[in-house]
Amino acid sequence: MTDMRQKIPSVNALLESAEAAGLFEEIPRQVITSSIRSTLDAARVWGGTEPEGGWLAAVERDAHQWRKTSLRKVINATGVVLHTNLGRAPVSERAKQAVLDSLEYSTLELDIENGRRGSRQSHLKELLKEITGAEDALVTVNAASALLLAINSIAADRDTIISRGELVEIGGSFRLPEIINKSTSNLVEVGTTNRTHLKDYVLAIGDDTRCILKVHRSNFIQKGFVTEVDINELAALSSDGVEVIHDVGSGLLLSLDNFGLTGEPLVQDSVAAGATTIFSGDKLLGGPQAGIIVGKKTTISAIATNPMARAVRPDKATIAALEATLSAYRDQSTALREIPVLSMLTASPDEIAQRAQRLAELLPGASTMPGASSVGGGSFPESSLPTTLVAINPGSCEEMMRILRDNHPPIIARVLDDRIVFDVRTMKDDEFDQLAAVCS
Ligand SMILES: *Cc1c(COP(=O)(O)O)cnc(C)c1O
Repeated sequence: MTDMRQKIPSVNALLESAEAAGLFEEIPRQVITSSIRSTLDAARVWGGTEPEGGWLAAVERDAHQWRKTSLRKVINATGVVLHTNLGRAPVSERAKQAVLDSLEYSTLELDIENGRRGSRQSHLKELLKEITGAEDALVTVNAASALLLAINSIAADRDTIISRGELVEIGGSFRLPEIINKSTSNLVEVGTTNRTHLKDYVLAIGDDTRCILKVHRSNFIQKGFVTEVDINELAALSSDGVEVIHDVGSGLLLSLDNFGLTGEPLVQDSVAAGATTIFSGDKLLGGPQAGIIVGKKTTISAIATNPMARAVRPDKATIAALEATLSAYRDQSTALREIPVLSMLTASPDEIAQRAQRLAELLPGASTMPGASSVGGGSFPESSLPTTLVAINPGSCEEMMRILRDNHPPIIARVLDDRIVFDVRTMKDDEFDQLAAVCS
C-alpha cells in the first residue's frame, strides 16, 4: 500500500501534463487545479490506485463537470404529484415561458399605459380578485411568510385565538404556535385536541382579541369523536376589531369532487364566508412557490403597508409564473388541461392504463400492475389515486435505482416488493424514451 501511494503523481506534475494536453484552453486553470486535488484525494482514500484510463483522464472527467449545476430537472416516476423533495408543483409550459421572459428587462414595476412607476403586485391583484371573489390580494414568497405577515399586521402585541386541534406542524419546522409567537401576537388556545365549539371562541373573545385563526390540518385527519367550527360560523364572529384568518394550505381554486378528491377547502368558500384567506402557490394551485393572501380591502392594505411585507415580497420570476398559472383559472377546462398538477390528478384510469402499456412495451421484461399514486404535498392526505404501474425486475433494485439517479436527467422511481415501479401519472410521454434508454 505504501508503494502504491508513492506512485501518486504530484499536483505540479499533473498540471504540467494538463497544460501539455491543451486542457487550459477549454477549462480555467483554477478548475483544473481543484479537480487535480480532488482526484488525488480520492485516490489516497482508495490506497493510491491509478484511476481507470489514467490520472489525467480522471482529472479531465472531473473538470468537465465544472459548470454542472446541482439543481437539475428530474423525471418523476414516483406517482407522487406534489413531491416535496422534487420541488412540489411543476408549472405549466406557459408559466415556464413567462419566467424566461421575466428574466429579461420587464414591466415588473412599470405601468406601461402611462409610463409611470407601477406595483409588482398589480400583475396578480386583478386575477386573484376575479378568481377568488375577494376585494383585494397580496402575494409573498410562501404561505408561511404570508401567515407570519398577516398575524403581525393584524394582531401584534394583541391576542390571536386558535383551536387546540389546529396547533399543527406542517413539515419543515413550520409550527403554528411558533409562527404566532414570532409574529409577536399572544396565542390564546381554545377547545381541546379533538373538539372545539363555537362557544369556546365566543367566550375567549376579549378586549385584546384582534385575530381568530383557523388552520387547515393539511397533512393529517381527525376521525371519531371530533368537532370543529365551520369557517362560515367562525367568520361570522369577525367585527371591526377582530379579523378571522383562514390558512387553507393547498390553494384549491376549483372543486375536484367529481374526480373523487374531497376534503380540501376551496379558497372561494372561505373568501365568501368573509375570512382573510391564505394559501400556497405551489401545492394544488399548481404554480410557483408563493404565499397568497386574499380578503377585504382594509385588511389587505394594513398587511401591505407593514414594513415586514418588503422582506417577504415575491421576485419577478415568481410573479411571472403565478400570473400565467392564474390566468388559466379564468376558464375551468383550460385550468384542468393546462396546469400539470390538475391534469395529473384528474387523468382517467383508462388513459393511465394505456400510457402504462405503452411504456411497458418499451422496457425489456416489464409488466403492468394496478397500484396507487398519491397527491402529496400535505394535500388530500387520505386519498390514493388508482393507477397502473410499470414494474421491472432488475438483479439488484438498489444498484438499478442508483443507475436511474445517475442518468441525465435523473430518474426517480419507487421500489415495491423487490421490484422497481414506474408510475406514468407523473411522467411526460417524451420521458418514456429516456427511461427506455437506461433500462435496455
Ligand atoms: C403547506 C402549508 C403551509 C406552508 O406553506 P408554504 O407555502 O410551504 O410556506 C401553511 N399552512 C398550511 C395549512 C399548509 O398546508
